[in-house]
Amino acid sequence: MSVVRLRSSRHWVFDMDGTLTIAVHDFEAIKRALAIPACDDILHHLAALPADEAAAKHAWLLEHERELALAAQPAPGAVELVRELQQRDCRLGILTRNAHELALLTLQAIGLGDCFVSRDVVGRDEAPPKPHPGGLLQLAGQWQVAPQQLVMVGDYRFDLDCARAAGACGVLVNLAENPWPELADHFAVDCHALLAQVQG
Ligand SMILES: [Mg+2]
Repeated sequence: MSVVRLRSSRHWVFDMDGTLTIAVHDFEAIKRALAIPACDDILHHLAALPADEAAAKHAWLLEHERELALAAQPAPGAVELVRELQQRDCRLGILTRNAHELALLTLQAIGLGDCFVSRDVVGRDEAPPKPHPGGLLQLAGQWQVAPQQLVMVGDYRFDLDCARAAGACGVLVNLAENPWPELADHFAVDCHALLAQVQG
């Protein structure tokens, strides 16, 4: 996607952890605490467990993530970028593998609580987890635009896979270099750099 098209984009969806916030999840430690094999996906693993065991582990995860949410710090340029898009009257959404309530708590903690409508903050209970494109398609439906109109900003390949599968534009941020050039439609080292590109 050209920078010109990025500048005129009106519908922006952000991953949260590691994109708008400084990444703090220690996924390996979480897997050890919940006896999840290192090579397994946490959410997929929990979904396959017997109901009572899954519920207990989800409860542990939620409590662990609540502490992280309260202590969340904004990623470089994230607040400025989102504020700029808000001033442009862009539609703003979140698509996260975190839980909806914790995403709202996190946005508040980093000073962006007023920028997102609750319904547009799509968590792991509202849509299938990324890389599944369901969450993006859902937001496109809510906003009554084609998925191709969406920009998805994230810090991991799941965000890019999700964008690609939905037909949206995938933007990668918060890495020194782009390890997935074939998947990213656009790359910026952080949200400061992305903001500069959006402002031209
Ligand atoms: Mg992330």
